[in-house]
Amino acid sequence: MDIVILKFGGTSVTSFEKKQMIAFYVKQALENNEFPVVVVSAMGRFPDPYATDTLISLVQKNEANDNKVTLDLLMSCGETISATIIANMLDNLDLHAIPVTGFQAGLITDNNFSNANVIDFDGKFINNLIKKKIIPVVTGFQGITKDGFITTLGRGGSDTTATALGSFLNAKRIDIFTDVDGLMDSDPDIFNDAILYEEISYDDAYYLACNGAKVICSKAISYAKKKNIPIYIKNTLKNNTGTLIH
Ligand code: ADP
Ligand code: ASP
Ligand code: MG
Repeated sequence: MDIVILKFGGTSVTSFEKKQMIAFYVKQALENNEFPVVVVSAMGRFPDPYATDTLISLVQKNEANDNKVTLDLLMSCGETISATIIANMLDNLDLHAIPVTGFQAGLITDNNFSNANVIDFDGKFINNLIKKKIIPVVTGFQGITKDGFITTLGRGGSDTTATALGSFLNAKRIDIFTDVDGLMDSDPDIFNDAILYEEISYDDAYYLACNGAKVICSKAISYAKKKNIPIYIKNTLKNNTGTLIH
């Protein structure tokens, strides 16, 4: 059974309607004989209670003095809450799922707190779940250093979780579900004449991501490129074809 990564961004894990769509995509994958590994971001945007920026605002009064270890653990909490809620929702629909933290998923990073890089993978835990056909709902954005400190992968880093896992698990594709139709030539929230790329190369998408197209995290693209795994960016509510990055 091919593994597919289904990643849902912060605005895709909030309303009842969007959560129903998550269940729809999980069922659709299973019906197509694909095994879904779900990755989720923290719910919503500032000032929603568990959004990453809300969590940061709880302590970040003096950036220069902030303890990076503490800040990363705090920032990582939003994804943990989100994964538990989504796993619980799927499980209640008899789609056997459990929440999995970035550290349980074996995403080992360097010590570059707040913008850590995944340097190794310990797949025992997650592969065991997959073998038992239990759907892992993995917290995006989180990693762990070799010496056991919790890290975060940089803003927008749940995309990196999705592509790093996709690469380590040899996924057939990585679906990034978000609140716009795909990758466009400008920000559709600002420019209503923004044009959708139906297809784009890894390198061109990387260039756009480095220059403000935050719909995909630039760091995420390299993991998919290395293994030649296609990334699809789609609108959670539309079930559209979106943008294919390959
Ligand atoms: P998610 O929580 O789903 O990861 P993000 O906020 O990280 O969502 O990324 C989606 C947002 O990226 C969109 O709401 C859109 O406003 C913004 N965006 C900026 N530039 C682009 C672009 N070139 N193409 C598409 N979306 C863009
Ligand atoms: N929640 C993290 C952030 O806001 C990661 C992500 O959404 O991809 O940056
Ligand atoms: Mg994002």
